[in-house]
Amino acid sequence: MSEILVLGAGVVGMTTAYALARKGFKVTVIDVAAGPAEAGASFGNGAQLSYFYTDAMASPSLVANLPKYMLGLDPAFRVRISLSPAFIAWGVRFLANSTQQAFERNTIDILKLALESRSAIGCLSGKIKFDHAKTGKLTLYSNDESLEKARTLTKLKNQFGAQQAVLTRNQAFEKEPALEGYRPDFVGAVWSPYDESGDSRLFCCNLRDLLERDYGVIFRFGSRIRRLIVRANALVGVETETDQLECSRAVISLGAWAPAIAKTAGIRLPIWPVQGYSLTVPALASAPIASITDTARKTVFCRIGNRLRVAGLADIGNTGGGFREERFRALLETAKGIFPHAGNYDEDVNAWTGLRPVTPDSKPIVGRTKVNGVFLNCGHGSLGWTLSMAAANRLSGSILV
Ligand SMILES: Cc1cc2nc3c(=O)[nH]c(=O)nc-3n(C[C@H](O)[C@H](O)[C@H](O)COP(=O)(O)OP(=O)(O)OC[C@H]3O[C@@H](n4cnc5c(N)ncnc54)[C@H](O)[C@@H]3O)c2cc1C
Repeated sequence: MSEILVLGAGVVGMTTAYALARKGFKVTVIDVAAGPAEAGASFGNGAQLSYFYTDAMASPSLVANLPKYMLGLDPAFRVRISLSPAFIAWGVRFLANSTQQAFERNTIDILKLALESRSAIGCLSGKIKFDHAKTGKLTLYSNDESLEKARTLTKLKNQFGAQQAVLTRNQAFEKEPALEGYRPDFVGAVWSPYDESGDSRLFCCNLRDLLERDYGVIFRFGSRIRRLIVRANALVGVETETDQLECSRAVISLGAWAPAIAKTAGIRLPIWPVQGYSLTVPALASAPIASITDTARKTVFCRIGNRLRVAGLADIGNTGGGFREERFRALLETAKGIFPHAGNYDEDVNAWTGLRPVTPDSKPIVGRTKVNGVFLNCGHGSLGWTLSMAAANRLSGSILV
């Protein structure tokens, strides 16, 4: 049986292991953390399987707002310029992807990947539990100009298989009566009836059980990868802090940490971490059933079972990556201010921060590299859970057993 290592046990590594094991590979997964989705972005993300809301991050409107973001005038979005050559190279490519044409192209490409994921996650959801809910999503717009832009994009996406509808404010209230308790004004919404939600960490934990039980996948947790060992342009092993593993094939699915490990094999990856935060609190009876995304405040509200997950903030550049109390407070105050009765924000608040591994075009990097035996499945940005199954299937399709 052909052996392969999967580096990283976030949602991308776990779905990669699943796709490869189903294809007949003998898979070993390595991660520094004590369990799957424990230490990376897959732990506390926005909980949305956002199959239809697939907007690329680089866009003309982001560029228009860049001065505000750089001056720290937007509570949700911060850009701190880093002088690192990697950041500058990434930034130049990101800006090149911010034209209207590139934004639309990238959004449609992501939509196609998301639609592939939808059917694959649908099949898997019968086998594992993860507080999966098919409740749809409402994306709210605060002014006519942004709603009109959303209408144009919705028309385009619907031509490629999305099934979204633009709603008036009153129609949005009909879809989600809990919006009565929503404080900010909004002029309308985009309704994505087939967007879903769930707990991506639980998804990964239960997928681990399935992989061990049905496919004999081996997990090496608590193992920090130091470098890839390459000879004559071919992978021969992976060095961890404690030992060396011989292998001729490995997939890098290390999220925001992928560039550092890929670099040890001479592979440069255009991925930059964009830091976000979330909080999870007990949901109250007046919490929304559908997921709600407030585009003006870049904040999502999503029920996971009897909990409410609020996620948001995007800090780009020289952020350090650690938990910053004042940024978390900004999210908490926003949540309390705009949807005060959706959750119990004063009790049992689970605070979290994570790094979105973002590429300039917001599309994951999937497939072979210039080094024989080294494969990539990384750079899934703001939609890693949503895109994970399709990316994993595409990757496994590019590797012969
Ligand atoms: C605030 C926020 C909200 C989000 N909301 C959503 C959402 O609603 N829907 C959605 O689809 N996506 C969302 N995302 C994006 C999504 O969470 C990510 O794209 C996805 O989790 C990336 O998965 P990954 O497996 O590539 O990386 P990660 O989950 O970060 O996993 C990387 C793994 O690599 C391991 N690792 C790192 N370095 C080493 C090393 N040297 N040795 C061994 N192991 C190592 C880590 O321990 C970790 O387990 C959100 C992200 C954030 C931050």
